[in-house]
Amino acid sequence: MKKQKALLIIKPDGVQRGLCGTILKRFEKVGLTIIGFKFMKADAQTVKNHYPENDVWFGKVGQRTLTNYAKKGLDVKKVFGTDDAVAIGKTVKNWLITYFQESPVLVAAVEGYETIEIVRKISGNTIPVLAAPGSVRGDFSHDTIDLANEQNRPLRNLIHASDAVEDGEKEVALWFKPEELFSYKRADEDLMFPPSK
Ligand code: ATP
Ligand code: MG
Repeated sequence: MKKQKALLIIKPDGVQRGLCGTILKRFEKVGLTIIGFKFMKADAQTVKNHYPENDVWFGKVGQRTLTNYAKKGLDVKKVFGTDDAVAIGKTVKNWLITYFQESPVLVAAVEGYETIEIVRKISGNTIPVLAAPGSVRGDFSHDTIDLANEQNRPLRNLIHASDAVEDGEKEVALWFKPEELFSYKRADEDLMFPPSK
């Protein structure tokens, strides 16, 4: 079975709240191997390239707002001037670029089996209120869509985790130079996955 790579970013709220070690520890503890790790200032272009630039993704992001506003009977046009999901998604992407530059971010690349599912499970639902207890977002944040949108900012949800196998590969290559990535074996690897006899 082939291993998968995922990119993790401790976003500026996680860094400024002193949660880097606490958050990263959860990914180490589950048995993933850290193959890249650095603290850096994200530049606007890298963030722009990092989040998708297509209507499917914009629509998914905008739909979160529409669903939440509909559930609460709020008027989305008052905040965004539109109820078009794609247009809302584009606005959120611009907010993300500002958010990511608020402080340094911690960027890590991890590798293991079913890595994408594991990192998404540990991170929890995008919307902190919906993130399960025990997940990073569920345990350390309780931001809401209404408040975030009203304040013209994205949800502050502490962590980015790749959410598809191809994205993991692409994102690791975007944030790391080849010489910043390492290949080595964790001491407990043969205990977690005994080699076949
Ligand atoms: P990430 O890619 O950062 O790991 P995610 O995959 O859980 O998050 P995406 O749909 O990729 O969620 O959205 C990227 C980020 O944009 C979210 O983590 C959140 O910070 C912000 N975001 C997404 N939708 C909204 C929204 N409707 N309103 C405010 N912020 C949003
Ligand atoms: Mg995402």
